Amino acid sequence: MALVGGAAEILMKFKILLSLILWINTFALSQAYEHPGQYRYPFIRPASSFTEPPSAAESRGASKTYDYIIIGGGTAGCPLAATLSQNFSVLLLERGGTPFANGNVSFLQNFHISLADTSQTSASQVFISTDGVINSRARILGGGTCINAGFYTRASASYIKRVGWDAKLVNESYPWVEKQIVHRPELVPWQRAFRDSLIEVGISPFNGFTYDHLYGTKIGGTIFDRFGRRHTAAELLASANPDNLHVLVHATVQKIVFDKTSKRPRAVGVIFKDENGKQNKAFLSKRPRSEIIVSSGALGSPQLLLLSGIGPKADLEKLNISVVLDNEFVGKGMADNPLNTIYIPTNRNIKQSLIQVVGITKLGVYIEASSGFGQSMDSIHWNNGIVSAEPLNNLMRAQLCPVQAKRMGLAKALFWVSKPLTNP
Ligand SMILES: Cc1cc2nc3c(=O)[nH]c(=O)nc-3n(C[C@H](O)[C@H](O)[C@H](O)COP(=O)(O)OP(=O)(O)OC[C@H]3O[C@@H](n4cnc5c(N)ncnc54)[C@H](O)[C@@H]3O)c2cc1C
Repeated sequence: MALVGGAAEILMKFKILLSLILWINTFALSQAYEHPGQYRYPFIRPASSFTEPPSAAESRGASKTYDYIIIGGGTAGCPLAATLSQNFSVLLLERGGTPFANGNVSFLQNFHISLADTSQTSASQVFISTDGVINSRARILGGGTCINAGFYTRASASYIKRVGWDAKLVNESYPWVEKQIVHRPELVPWQRAFRDSLIEVGISPFNGFTYDHLYGTKIGGTIFDRFGRRHTAAELLASANPDNLHVLVHATVQKIVFDKTSKRPRAVGVIFKDENGKQNKAFLSKRPRSEIIVSSGALGSPQLLLLSGIGPKADLEKLNISVVLDNEFVGKGMADNPLNTIYIPTNRNIKQSLIQVVGITKLGVYIEASSGFGQSMDSIHWNNGIVSAEPLNNLMRAQLCPVQAKRMGLAKALFWVSKPLTNP
């Protein structure tokens, strides 16, 4: 009996110890979930943690000012912040949350689920263009790299020349990104069939695996690793100088503040809303070359400039926004990304893949393929025409129906789709 009693006591102690360990683990996990990535990225904080400088005038001489304020922590904003923080103090403001513990962002198999999530907290914000085309834009630290198809390629040499960038500097910058978040894909059977079909229809030469932008068929880089885990631009922040960088998430910039006392207005600060709806102000340092950088995406950047009084005078006046700078181009020239899609239905279980192989034609048409989405048990029905194989809609300007694609065979169908779009 004594032996049994002793064993029971030991068992009880063991149980208490086990539950204590479990509780500590659960506590640690819940802490990690609340502030994911806090150990690797200690400089990322919620916007509400920001303490405003005492007053605008004072702030320009106060300690909590920045050499650079970057608006939008996306594909461009994150690497910019990491690089500038090596030598300057930087504030990066992002309206969304962090991607580190977001399963919809992190795993390839959730690509379509993320795009279909229309909740307020979704990493992807659905919008419809004035021509009625449904699309998505990012709302998360890491930006488009958190919701996109993950294909990575270097820009063409002619593009770099056209936009006037320093080619040497550009070429030196690529490996910095590639080493951190880009991977060589392991081709799944569907991508191999797609590669062979492109070559068969004459999208040649076959350039093998390369990051370079070359005409023909190639295997490019991907931000998904071999386990299907996505690596986003937010990870580039790991290269930042943590002493010089503040990143605020859930910080929605509403306006750029200008000093209008001299002839040429000068951007000196920003007004942003935190996750509790409270307005805050952040200011640049007095350093002559300090700057506010707008990297809020193709829609977000002109939107913010317009809200701040930079844009076509007539448009601003119509909205009662006082004009800081009359610029006829802001918010103009936007266009949808035209797309032809072929859906090939099958009863077989096809491995999911996003873009690994691409056909680049001299006509300016790019041909890509994905597989396996919309057929799993947890498939969602979302009729946006980009990620869904559900009943085809008429949003696309030109589209093959599945039956046609099946009858024609993949190679012939690709030949059809590789022709440039003609105006409707
Ligand atoms: C479905 C889809 C698939 C794609 N697939 C690919 C692909 O495979 N390969 C590829 O190269 N490209 C792809 N793209 C395009 C690519 O993702 C974008 O071109 C790129 O991410 C744009 O980068 P950016 O820095 O300009 O903007 P984003 O990366 O969009 O960054 C802008 C950031 O600014 C934030 N922001 C906006 N307004 C404010 C504000 N007022 N205050 C604070 N923050 C703000 C946003 O939340 C966002 O995080 C795809 C795009 C989509 C939508």
